[in-house]
This record gives sequence, structure tokens and C-alpha cells, in this order.
Amino acid sequence: MILPGRTLGMLGGGQLGRMFTVAARTMGYRVIVLDPDPDSPAGRIADEHLHAAYEDPWALDQLARDCAVVTTEFENVPAATLERLARDVPVRPSAKALSMTQNRIREKRLVCALGLATVPYAEILDEQSLAIAARAIPMPAILKRAEMGYDGKGQLPVHSRADLERAYETLGRVPCVLERRVDLDREISVVLARGLDGEIQCFPVAENEHRDGILFLSSVPARIAPELAARARRAAALIAHGLEYCGVLAVEFFVTTEGRLLVNEIAPRPHNSGHYTLDVCITSQFEQQVRMICGLPPGDTAALSPVAMVNLLGDLWAEGSPHWERLFADPRAKLHLYGKRTARPGRKMGHFCYVHPELDTARRRALEIHRSLGAD
Ligand code: ADP
Ligand code: MG
Repeated sequence: MILPGRTLGMLGGGQLGRMFTVAARTMGYRVIVLDPDPDSPAGRIADEHLHAAYEDPWALDQLARDCAVVTTEFENVPAATLERLARDVPVRPSAKALSMTQNRIREKRLVCALGLATVPYAEILDEQSLAIAARAIPMPAILKRAEMGYDGKGQLPVHSRADLERAYETLGRVPCVLERRVDLDREISVVLARGLDGEIQCFPVAENEHRDGILFLSSVPARIAPELAARARRAAALIAHGLEYCGVLAVEFFVTTEGRLLVNEIAPRPHNSGHYTLDVCITSQFEQQVRMICGLPPGDTAALSPVAMVNLLGDLWAEGSPHWERLFADPRAKLHLYGKRTARPGRKMGHFCYVHPELDTARRRALEIHRSLGAD
């Protein structure tokens, strides 16, 4: 076991790294963050911030020397970085698990190999596979680049063969998947933790609503049959086992209007839809990540109340600082800001949770407060 007093390494200094850093330091660990941004949200509150490139040999040597274990807050860490670190220090989750999830083609192949359902899709690697995909996938569809997409970026709607050609061109003729656009009843996600011994603990299933491809609202418990929630947890656990995963992992699912459960994507890290755990669960997803990578037993994942979480995007700052006094006026609203200095449209600046014993009230009040923040 890696116990308090030791040093943990975090690759990436965004909000996920920041909330991990808070959890780790609260538990008595030291944290070193590597992020090229001198002003990164996590770097500013870490014990040490290496502002260097992810490939910087000097920075990687220091991480390897000083850390008991290294983890990451995003899946796109260069493979060479992870390999260099793994020579001298445990990297959790592993480079192999990260590489499986940083590419939609590899990810979907894994999901299918495990016997789980995805949306109907086709791989596009060149002109020939594009022609095959166009015939195989009914329109409307969505073209997604295989790598480096997030928050709806790197994907385009497609309504015709001509659209598809244009979209492939726009995305830079890189490897892509073409997905059928399915009719969604709702979206749900499972955040779980898997330890070095292979034991798995799931957090309660969240129900997620997106706006413009970006998560807008998550609420717990998800308004689905207990049997469907159990199926989602089993599917997510199968994926975690398949990846021989160590750490916190999230699986996003679609529930179609026909009641089918489809795996959408896998995130090898704590997830936006798990932020609610900070305010209502015995153990947050960030504490759980610390526990997993340090080889500690998992904390209890029970939620003590229904909750609704709303993301705060940079758009809210258009007219200056949002009306926080309106949020603070309600004693059940819990604000989390990530300390980002510049607000841009679509940028995740923070989130808040609304904690209430009635789920409907939690959702309604969260929406009302969100609306009031930007209005005059
Ligand atoms: P990202 O990596 O940006 O989160 P996703 O693949 O999860 O990309 O897509 C973002 C959102 O777009 C999804 O959560 C969902 O709301 C919508 N979406 C994506 N793919 C489909 C699809 N095949 N059918 C219907 N909606 C989709
Ligand atoms: Mg997604």
C-alpha cells in the first residue's frame, strides 16, 4: 500500500486533476502535477507543478524519481511518456488501458469483443472503407474522428453521401467511425473503481443530459428500472475486467427508445457525470481514484441523497461574472469552480450540485438556479 506522506504524480492539470489533487492532499499525500500550462487549475494547488511538455525528459525523470505512483486525468497522454514512466514507477491505469480508450476504433472493437452492444457503426480508414461505410450505415449518421474528440468536438452530423465526403474532408481525412444516429430515450453512465485485486465498486448510475454535445445536467438516481441499472453496472464491470483496469473508469451508455442498452464511450479516469459524488457520496470518485492507485481498499460508494449536477460553461461569463449570490442564497446548492482564468464559450469553468431528498425537486431547482445565474 502507498500510504499518506508519499507522493502521487498527476499527468494533466485540468479540473479532473485539480479535484484529484484536493482529494489526495486532504488524505495526506503530496501531489506533483505535470502540465505545460503555467496557470493550470491543478498545478496551482499541487505541492509541486512541473510546467513542462508531456514528453520533457527532465520532468519525466523527476516524476519517476519522486512519485510512488503516477496517474492521469486525460486519455491522450503520449504513449512514449507512459512507457518512459512505467520503466521506473507504477502507472495506473496502465498505458495499455489508456491506449485502448484513446481511439474509438480500438474502443468499439473491445466492446464488441466483450459481447456488448454499440450503436451500429463502421470504421473509415480510407476511400474504400468510406464507400463501404456509406452503404452499411443508414442516414442520418454522425462521423467521429477516432482520436482526440471530446465535448462533441471532432464529430459532424451526416445526412447524405455527399455530406459524408465533406465531413471526412473537414475532419482531415483521419481515421473515423461513422455511427448511425440512434433515437435516445436517455443517456446514463456508470463510474466504477477497480482495484489491483480486481475487485469492483460501482457508484450509483447517473442520468445525463447533453446540450450541443456537452454534458449539461447529471442526476442521481437515474430514472430507469433497477434491472437496467444492474445491466449497465455489469457491462461496465465487464469492460473494466477486459482492460485489467486499475483506477476509476466511466462508461457512457445510450438507452434507445426501443429500450436497448448501447455502450457509447469509455473514459479511463474520473468523469464529469461523477462529480456529484463529491457532494453526496460517502467516498467521492476522486478519493476512490487515490485509493485505487495506492492499493488501498475501496471506500463506500453509497449516495446519501438524490442530487442534480449542472455544468457551468464559459458562456455564462459573457456579461461578466455570474450572479453567484443567487446560488448561495439557496442552502442546498453547492458550488465548485475550477480556477480557470479565462472563460470561453463551451469551456467547463465549474459545476454545482443541488442536493435534495426529492429527485424532481433537485432537478427543478438546479435548472432554476442555472437560469438565474446569467440573467439580469
Ligand atoms: P464526446 O467524446 O464528445 O463525449 P460522444 O460520442 O459521447 O462524444 O458524443 C457526445 C454526445 O452526442 C452524446 O453524449 C450524445 O448525446 C450525442 N451522440 C453521439 N453519438 C450519437 C449517436 N450515434 N446517436 C445519437 N446521439 C449521439
Ligand atoms: Mg461522451
